[in-house]
Amino acid sequence: MNELFKSWLKVQPWSNSECECPSCLSKKIEYYLVGDKNTNVGWCLMWCSSCKDGIHISRMKIPKGVDYESFEESVSNNNSGPQYQINLVQP
Ligand SMILES: [Zn+2]
Repeated sequence: MNELFKSWLKVQPWSNSECECPSCLSKKIEYYLVGDKNTNVGWCLMWCSSCKDGIHISRMKIPKGVDYESFEESVSNNNSGPQYQINLVQP
């Protein structure tokens, strides 16, 4: 697996607002979490608003206490993601 992708997987902006971008080391990580409100399983898009690198995690367990949108909310509110193109780091 790509080392940069692995570093991105360790970034957890929902529990640490001071985390650093693995690509450019700025602390401008943003994220968008969508999941099933019954199982807490969902997907995540995480990106750096400074260098625009990011990753998509297609399936993850969302930690307790973390706020996220349900799939229904995500569909009805389709502009919650980044408003610019993300350079997706590949696994
Ligand atoms: Zn960055």
